[in-house]
Amino acid sequence: MQQKLISMPGRKRIALIAHDNMKQELSDWAQQNLDALRQHLLFATGTTGHLLEQSIGIEVNKLISGPLGGDQQIGAMLVDQRIDVVIFFWDPFEPMPHDPDVKALLRIAAVWNVPVACNRSSADFLISSPLMDSVHHYRVPDYDSYIVERTGNTKA
Ligand code: PGA
Repeated sequence: MQQKLISMPGRKRIALIAHDNMKQELSDWAQQNLDALRQHLLFATGTTGHLLEQSIGIEVNKLISGPLGGDQQIGAMLVDQRIDVVIFFWDPFEPMPHDPDVKALLRIAAVWNVPVACNRSSADFLISSPLMDSVHHYRVPDYDSYIVERTGNTKA
């Protein structure tokens, strides 16, 4: 598939998600990285967002709770380049009723070349990257040429 180069802003739009057994860990991590997180715009699935606001007093744009569709909402935002980074502490030990949504979110992040941290260590690497604070040019699928290729239409 053809790709095109686009840019994400210096002030990142970060999605924060944690499964129930991982919420304390995400809260600890966010507390530890509060100064860095305050430089960015934060989004979260419903319960995670409420708990983060309560525990560390940071402003979070809250979507619906994950099992009710919050992961899917974040996935849709990735497709539209409205989220730049995903910090997703998913639980590797518990099956979830919304496992298909989790898989869909991780897949769509791979499709749209979005950086994802799935544990505390990778979140440390992401948050301390110099790319977090600068405009970053990166490649995404070129939808216009994709649709022309598939339909023969010259206009997407
Ligand atoms: P929650 O959703 O923040 O509403 O708990 C997270 C998830 O399970 O995906």
